[in-house]
Amino acid sequence: MQSAVNVAYIFASVLFILGMKMLGKASTARNGNLVSGGGMVIAVAAALLSEQILSFHLIAIAIAIGLVFGIFSAHRVKMIQMPEMVALLNGFGGLASTLVGAAEIHKISIFGWQKYLEMCGSMNTISIIYTAKFATFAAILIGTITFSGSLMAYLKLSGKFKFSPRVSKTFNLLLFLSAIWFGAVFIAANNINHGVIYALVVISLILGFSVVVPIGGGDMPVVISLLNSLSGMAATATGFIMANVVLIVAGCLVGTSGLILTVIMCKSMNRSLRNVLFSGFSGGGESSGSDGKEPQAISVEDAYCVLEAAKNVVFVPGYGMAVAQAQHVARELGMILENNGTDVRFGIHPVAGRMPGHMNVLLAEADVPYEQLVDMETINEGIKNVDVAVIIGANDVVNPAAVNDKSSPIYGMPIINAHLAKSVFVLKRGAGTGFSGQQNPLFSMENTRMLYGDAKKTISALVACFKGR
Ligand code: NDP
Repeated sequence: MQSAVNVAYIFASVLFILGMKMLGKASTARNGNLVSGGGMVIAVAAALLSEQILSFHLIAIAIAIGLVFGIFSAHRVKMIQMPEMVALLNGFGGLASTLVGAAEIHKISIFGWQKYLEMCGSMNTISIIYTAKFATFAAILIGTITFSGSLMAYLKLSGKFKFSPRVSKTFNLLLFLSAIWFGAVFIAANNINHGVIYALVVISLILGFSVVVPIGGGDMPVVISLLNSLSGMAATATGFIMANVVLIVAGCLVGTSGLILTVIMCKSMNRSLRNVLFSGFSGGGESSGSDGKEPQAISVEDAYCVLEAAKNVVFVPGYGMAVAQAQHVARELGMILENNGTDVRFGIHPVAGRMPGHMNVLLAEADVPYEQLVDMETINEGIKNVDVAVIIGANDVVNPAAVNDKSSPIYGMPIINAHLAKSVFVLKRGAGTGFSGQQNPLFSMENTRMLYGDAKKTISALVACFKGR
């Protein structure tokens, strides 16, 4: 039986890796998700067969609660609430690791180390005992930090907690060092001291909150992917505690891919991870803005005439497209333009919207052809030859202050250089700033015209102009 289970674990791990590879391309991402999900079903089934499960009915109750909660949330959560949902799910991953660590400690305090290791099928050697102790400590520390940090990220992203107070680096360092000290006491002791464990949990909870609370603005995507990575590392530690190979592999995959995504996000925002976590930047400063020039509006009819004559058009979607749910009408306008002989592309900024891949998901949902989805670098290469850049509810990701205003807090963040296109149409409702709170000089540039109103209504009106000609 054990060898069949091991084969199932290897098969599940291969499916995870294949699925992740497929997630890398928009055209295979949907199937990649299914392949990875299939791997998870196999892993869970194999674990249920192999472990000495004491209570199947408790597991069934937990699965039922999880299913109801999952299906209910999936139906209720709107697309624009997805990032906070991801933050919350990361937190649950961390909490699960803490609970596994706590359950193992409970078992050890009841049975003692020798019996405990026999139950796990491990040898009672000094090195195994220390590995188990270290893994338990790591699962509790990382899991609890992930839980409270993710909870704070959720509260901030959902707008339920709007402050970004500064927290002293020394305070966080002291908390971290005391967590390590309690961990060392736990690992060195022969018996379980519950006071030490409670102290470790409380310190880790505070540490998660205090590291995330000063972070805000454009830095939040980095925090979310870092928390995602941490939840994977906590799962790996849990895998070591339970001597479960597939949990170690899955945890490592989540941990490393989350870390790679964190690095990519840092590069996209031109911030170092250290700077993101410890500088306390939250979009607080103000750039010099528009130099007193007023944005100039354009009517839908006039915009239609320009688009009708354009040889090539680049749509730059942002968070406002998600708010307006304008992706379907954007695809329709794109198709109409293509039929009119215009070359159409969508320029995707890596942190447009409120979660990594937000725009890709929305546009794929609207069946925008994958070959029209183009990354920031490629769009920027030929941007000077673009007749019209149509900004659909994007702001920070097209803010030229990031390129040419050293006083701007977002200076250095790579942007889609829409301001270099021959003409720019900006679709937004009014004078609202983006997530970073910075003024955007693009709106008052000579080649820019504002198409005020809800993006979906504006694009629908443009579509109506094309249809009625
Ligand atoms: P921004 O948040 O910078 O700007 C969105 C713009 O959309 C606003 O200026 C708003 O202006 C406009 N808008 C809102 N609703 C509508 C609507 N119904 N119709 C038309 N326009 C609308 O978005 P970007 O995508 O440009 O930038 C993303 C920002 O979010 C970056 O700073 C990024 O760092 C940050 N972020 C990204 C995450 C990610 O992982 N992608 C996660 C968390 C944060 P108005 O109110 O005037 O309409």
